Amino acid sequence: MSDTVIVGGGSAGAAAAIAMARAGTPPLLIERDAVPREAVCGEFLGPDAAAALRRFGLDLAALGAVSLTRLRLGAGAREASLDLPFSAWALPRRVLDGALRDRAVAAGARLHHATVREAAPGWTLRLDDGARIDAARLLLATGKHALRGHPRLPARPASVGLKLHLRDVAIGPEVVLLPFAGGYAGLLPTPEAGGANLCAAVTDARGDLLARVAGGSALGARLLRDARPAWERPLAIGGVPYGFRHAGGDGPYRLGDQLSVIPSFTGDGVAMALLSGIAAAEAIAAGRDAAWFHAAWRRRSARPMRWAGIGAWTMRAWPAAFVGAATLLPGAARQVARLTRIDSCRVGSSEAPAPRA
Ligand SMILES: Cc1cc2nc3c(=O)[nH]c(=O)nc-3n(C[C@H](O)[C@H](O)[C@H](O)COP(=O)(O)OP(=O)(O)OC[C@H]3O[C@@H](n4cnc5c(N)ncnc54)[C@H](O)[C@@H]3O)c2cc1C
Repeated sequence: MSDTVIVGGGSAGAAAAIAMARAGTPPLLIERDAVPREAVCGEFLGPDAAAALRRFGLDLAALGAVSLTRLRLGAGAREASLDLPFSAWALPRRVLDGALRDRAVAAGARLHHATVREAAPGWTLRLDDGARIDAARLLLATGKHALRGHPRLPARPASVGLKLHLRDVAIGPEVVLLPFAGGYAGLLPTPEAGGANLCAAVTDARGDLLARVAGGSALGARLLRDARPAWERPLAIGGVPYGFRHAGGDGPYRLGDQLSVIPSFTGDGVAMALLSGIAAAEAIAAGRDAAWFHAAWRRRSARPMRWAGIGAWTMRAWPAAFVGAATLLPGAARQVARLTRIDSCRVGSSEAPAPRA
């Protein structure tokens, strides 16, 4: 028997676990991976993610994150380069998820490694290690993976996410956006010298990822000319429902990608996951039910989801125009980047406000 069980120890589940433990109600956190590992992710962290992590006592520089100052774009022969309108970092997910889980345990949450097979209303959870757990409250933070009995409404058309770490990439402290035929990619430095993370959202995962991205732009071809894959093949995840927002209602409290999935080129998914975990813990402490929490999150995430949808659609439909617009109107491009943040969109601000209650 446990009062609160959180299923999934990614950014959302771990954030909720830390916030609940700190509020004096330590939950049971169930995560299937015994060791943190890489997840399909561009590894971009913006000001809202940094502010949430600071609140947990986690410093991105101390974790080894690379500080990013510029945004570069390339499509065909066109290129654009602008200063980022806010602070941003790149950090491998293996490092971030590990630090968050350690912090949850240090705050008093119990961490159990097992896969939850199903959660029957009430709540009774069955785990793959044979355990049965009864819980008064359930928080669902399984990311892109649906738990049996709790499907996520599909969004069409779904994308495939691919991620590959690279060596020998001449990349600076920048995030590079590279649209190409059938998708778009983000290229960011990793903490190792010459290392980079190539992450793409595509409609069809077939073909050589490096060649496809390099073939989309002169900038991509230049940056990837000497690149060598650090892994045998890319990590992949299918059926990514960009634009999905949970319709609301009762059931378990949903967090992170179980609640909303912002198009990945914004690099704000982890911020949304962290802040949804904190917001759920605060809602529970205030006696709010799941339906109230889901409705409140829909309102809070409406603006960034809308702007991210417009941006993703434009970049896919008219990549050259997207890059051209960033060259001609850098101020407008920076403002759109701000508008896709979950919290920090104030014109002229470079840092996020403290995460709100
Ligand atoms: C191509 C792509 C690029 C992206 N790039 C970025 C980016 O650059 N920056 C950014 O901020 N966001 C990015 N995102 C989004 C970001 O990765 C997600 O929004 C974020 O990871 C969601 O966090 P989460 O905690 O909800 O899910 P996850 O991080 O996926 O965590 C879910 C956890 O639940 C566990 N789990 C699942 N099922 C079970 C089960 N049955 N039992 C026990 N444990 C379970 C998993 O092992 C996992 O640890 C990107 C996404 C994609 C697809």
